[in-house]
Amino acid sequence: MRKERTAGIPAWKRGLLAGMIGLAAVGAAAGIRDRLEERGRAVTMGDASGEEEPSGIPSGEEQYTETKKIALTFDDGPHPRYTEELLDGLAERNVKATFFLLGQNIEGREDIIRRMAEEGHLIGNHTYYHVDITKLSQNEACREILDTSEKITAITGQPVEYIRPPFGSWDKELECEVMMIPVFWSVDTLDWTTKNENQIVQKVVTKIEENDIILMHDSYDSTVKAALRIIDLLQAEGYEFVTADELILE
Ligand SMILES: [Zn+2]
Repeated sequence: MRKERTAGIPAWKRGLLAGMIGLAAVGAAAGIRDRLEERGRAVTMGDASGEEEPSGIPSGEEQYTETKKIALTFDDGPHPRYTEELLDGLAERNVKATFFLLGQNIEGREDIIRRMAEEGHLIGNHTYYHVDITKLSQNEACREILDTSEKITAITGQPVEYIRPPFGSWDKELECEVMMIPVFWSVDTLDWTTKNENQIVQKVVTKIEENDIILMHDSYDSTVKAALRIIDLLQAEGYEFVTADELILE
């Protein structure tokens, strides 16, 4: 079943949308950009949801793109059990992911965080208590962020540069002592509401395009299983899983 669904995404659409999203998100080299813009005008623009009809654009468009890169991101961890299961699966598949940690979940789980860093995953900040920082004073918001980063750095020895603001609420004017780069997402699996492995897998493999950043939570058995299945399916489609910083080139 899942093989059929994946294979059912026509090559013309994969290449076409990959090109369009690559244009919007990355701003490719000038020559490539011109070709993509030309192609963008010739077809339906702006609908990356994959609902449009085939436009006759032949396959072979992939020649304009390099490896198709996507990023799996996991918020709200680390979880004492599921994060390690996920790390095992990622290691088996040689896949790097991104983890946005809650400060309140760090104590007692230092070994898991150390392992994340050692195995090449990107570790980011998700505030201390999962707060909407736009609803806090500057001081409180910065405290949430800095306390979390401090705890992570104390374990990994690495500065924390990226933040996934809870609820996607980011205050661009926030002036903390350390500048943080916000990382949002392009595919929301809603894994925490469905907790349904099959639904998560289907949602991702049918919507996925190059440069997508996928939002998940390593707090559930269903998410871990779905994430590993997604990796197996999409690696077979030629996707490369990278850390989120590789997809943010602004
Ligand atoms: Zn969260």
